[in-house]
Amino acid sequence: MANNEDIFRKIIAHCKEYGFIFQSSEIYDGLSAVYDYGQNGSELKNNIKKYWWDAMTKLHENIVGIDAAIFMHPRTWEASGHVGAFNDPLIDNKDSKKRYRADVLIEEYLEKIEEKINKEIEKAANRFGDAFDEKQFRETNQRVLDNQKKIDETKAAFVKALEDNDLAAIKQVIVDADITCPVSGSKNWTDVRQFNLMFSTQLGSVSDESSTIYLRPETAQGIFVNFLNVQKTGRMKIPFGIAQIGKAFRNEIVARQFIFRMREFEQMEMQFFVRPGTEMEWYKYWKDVRMKWHKALGLGDEKYRFHDHDKLAHYANAAADIEFNLPMGFREVEGIHSRTDFDLGNHEKFSGKKIQYFDTEINKNYVPYVVETSIGVDRMFLSIISNAYTEETVEATGEQRVVLKIPPVLAPVKLAVLPLTKKDGLPEKAREIMDVLKFDYNCQYEEKDSIGKRYRRQDAIGTPFCITIDHQTLQDDTVTIRYRDTMDQERVATDKLEDIMEDMVSLKNLLKTL
Ligand code: ATP
Repeated sequence: MANNEDIFRKIIAHCKEYGFIFQSSEIYDGLSAVYDYGQNGSELKNNIKKYWWDAMTKLHENIVGIDAAIFMHPRTWEASGHVGAFNDPLIDNKDSKKRYRADVLIEEYLEKIEEKINKEIEKAANRFGDAFDEKQFRETNQRVLDNQKKIDETKAAFVKALEDNDLAAIKQVIVDADITCPVSGSKNWTDVRQFNLMFSTQLGSVSDESSTIYLRPETAQGIFVNFLNVQKTGRMKIPFGIAQIGKAFRNEIVARQFIFRMREFEQMEMQFFVRPGTEMEWYKYWKDVRMKWHKALGLGDEKYRFHDHDKLAHYANAAADIEFNLPMGFREVEGIHSRTDFDLGNHEKFSGKKIQYFDTEINKNYVPYVVETSIGVDRMFLSIISNAYTEETVEATGEQRVVLKIPPVLAPVKLAVLPLTKKDGLPEKAREIMDVLKFDYNCQYEEKDSIGKRYRRQDAIGTPFCITIDHQTLQDDTVTIRYRDTMDQERVATDKLEDIMEDMVSLKNLLKTL
């Protein structure tokens, strides 16, 4: 069996070979952690975005969407705390010269010990069978107790160091835990330094301090500064939300793992404005709603889990991630954050403009609280594609096939229309069928190569249906439809095709399940 790293490598190669994702500026040897979406990738990405946008704006009467600019007034980022606090603690290993995020090194160390405990428990569970009591084992097994102590102590020291913003203490956690560099194996570390993740550039032709502007590191601030505009012009009543999809930029220290951590990426964010004091209710509500949105795609409920944050971002009073089981393990795909009135309150202070809402129900003015849901389009893409990638042996022929089992509703191409031969009027008939379906579905016409080869190519890009037009089609107006996942084929009347497609690939049906 191939290991996860192998599989991940294969997925990356597959994404390139089949026009999903290319390294940016590849002919110049690429730009690190920046990627371009190809002909199939951009279709899949658009479908993901549409699923999110429609779920937010169509299924919630009180959510509207906007599209704010990437550039914003520089004061925005002072008010949001990003100039002062959007930093990652960075540390270098002097022997390997590799750079790491100190917090990630510590978190990975904690994960490893957690794994050790889990192995210990698994072993004991096997040994004791039905009589196994995990709680009791955790409380009495010395090795588990020692490891748990290590976790607790390291976590406590780490959280305190972060809260105190004490870089020397963060380094001390690494030293005390005996963490070594994965490349050199040494403990020869530099001091921990702060590194601001925002990209800056100059506005206009004069280059001085005051003309420095930033590429937004999150889309959220475009929503906060437009709070009053949207509330007033849309006559919105609290609770209500503003949704947005757009690019964000972060100068990530360690940008690896393909599109998981990029320097330019895309976010789908929704800020939900609520009456102060009700935020925890809404926080719970949005955790549920967002998890349901993910699970509705049918990738498997066991692939998701919540991770509640111990360490909160500078703006949050509660935060959780939705994690997906990617080839490298469970990783964050979406964050749900209770942001209090931190952002609106600060924009009020920094801009000198009143940003308040008059709540007629309680006859009171207040700065609304915010619960946000923030998902990376690219990470969502990665979870879909890595989950879809399947290598299998075709039972009937013993042949290997690679098939992308993308949820049909998100598939880049929905239908391949394949005339059996290039003559006898078959291509014309195929075009006729396509001319009916192409307005609703992305269809691809292919007449080159054997049918088998054409099927394989469509499997490789995840096309859920192929139809073959043969001589019988000309006589009785039926085609062979072939299903991607089962490879089953059946003969159907051409006028049934629309219904079959509608049933399996319409976004409407998916949205109805939410
Ligand atoms: P991480 O801890 O992985 O750096 P984060 O907690 O900083 O992520 P948020 O600020 O909560 O991320 O951003 C919301 C979402 O934006 C994330 O859940 C993720 O899907 C996406 N995202 C953040 N940074 C990146 C990146 N560098 N590349 C791709 N997507 C990203």
